[in-house]
Amino acid sequence: MRKFQVYDSLAREVREFAPLVPPRVGIFVCGLTPYAPAHVGHGRGFVVFDMVARALRRWGYRVLYVQTVTNVDDKVIARAAEEGADPLALSDRYFREYLECAEALGIRSTNYYAYATDHVPDIIAQVQALVDRGFGYVASDGSVYFSVARFPGYGRLSGQKVAALQPGARVERDERKQAPEDFVLWKAARPGEPSWESPWGPGRPGWHIEDTAITGRIFGPRYDLHGGGLDLIFPHHEAEIAQAESATGEAPLVNYWMHWGLLNMGGEKMSKSIGNVSSLEGAIETHGAAVLRFYYLNAHYRSSIEFDPQSSLREAGEAYATLARPADRLFDLLHADGPERAGADLPSARADAAEALVEQLDQTLAQDFNSREAIALLFGWSRRLAEDLGSLERLSGPALEQLASPYRWGQDVLGLFERAADGRGGVGGAVVAVLLQARQRARARGDFAEADRIRQELRAAGVVLEDDATGTRWSAVRD
Ligand SMILES: [Zn+2]
Repeated sequence: MRKFQVYDSLAREVREFAPLVPPRVGIFVCGLTPYAPAHVGHGRGFVVFDMVARALRRWGYRVLYVQTVTNVDDKVIARAAEEGADPLALSDRYFREYLECAEALGIRSTNYYAYATDHVPDIIAQVQALVDRGFGYVASDGSVYFSVARFPGYGRLSGQKVAALQPGARVERDERKQAPEDFVLWKAARPGEPSWESPWGPGRPGWHIEDTAITGRIFGPRYDLHGGGLDLIFPHHEAEIAQAESATGEAPLVNYWMHWGLLNMGGEKMSKSIGNVSSLEGAIETHGAAVLRFYYLNAHYRSSIEFDPQSSLREAGEAYATLARPADRLFDLLHADGPERAGADLPSARADAAEALVEQLDQTLAQDFNSREAIALLFGWSRRLAEDLGSLERLSGPALEQLASPYRWGQDVLGLFERAADGRGGVGGAVVAVLLQARQRARARGDFAEADRIRQELRAAGVVLEDDATGTRWSAVRD
């Protein structure tokens, strides 16, 4: 197992990572509340943690990566009421849409998407434990609250003082609470809302409790790594610590807290409630998933990013094209002639440089997942290769593979330089892949006219499709 370091938000410093039970690593990330289409801001953290999980697996850790799906909450219910839809069907639909985007983005390291409503018995058991141990109390309407005053460590993660949590702009006065800073564990059902039977009457889970009930079920009382957006530290993650450690009596709940920076638009966090959103699906369709993934990873995960819908992805697309051009050339040659291709060997200095670069890429990422620096190293490699792309023709298969090894690393860990199924890739390949997915969706819903239209458009652009039992293959027509 390669050693690596990570910035821990609770310790407020970069720490050497040590798993609780090596080589296993439990990772939990707060996932979507699917009440509207996912936006570009959502994609960032999920791509970042996809990279984290890929890197850890490459480095010899055995990762179990769990993400929540908050499929019932106030926002889901309100939106469903507006649309006249069933809340759970609505969140299901938006989550499935998100999964298509995730698939396009190459996010495939999550082992389990845990729907809150699939864990109601776990949630009720944890609320009951809190009531039994005197940390939770039942209000007159059958809601259950957590008594923050009973947990002295409250505020340690966020640096918030409980005294500051008086009713006002941030904390609403609520007659059911014993103290304004108390938070809800179980919400009594209101008429027409989805609800589950519980010892306190029909109700539904509070937001914070679902995460700790799910991690308790999967990892036990303590686990390795918790990720989430910077905006979730307070109150969400603070509440997670308080309720889990109170319910189990074991601490710390989490050994390392990782928080990614926010993606802002117009100087404010991209957020449906503010209205400054750019849809994830739209960004993928317009610019390609590879460009979006590159855009996210070309910043350190802890820095905030200012997203400009007019220019950010266009500029990222130009940069990515430069970065990927030599990789495309290498992979095209390898694809055309195979690894047995005859040709010249690589000068040993060049081969050594490729090997050294791969090691340097791992080391760079092992420093708090500095993907920006890793991409800068790959740019250096691309610049050197781009000086004489023509000379690649003369090289043998093994020599081409050696030159491609830093890009193989980029595929493996960053999820960049991906090739479509037939070995064609690059920016053009990414666009074709997106269109193929759109065509597949059209066929799945029975819209064969649309599927045919996409086929014609690709044909006009010089791409021929071939459907068979295993899926769709494409090839470019050379005039
Ligand atoms: Zn969460």
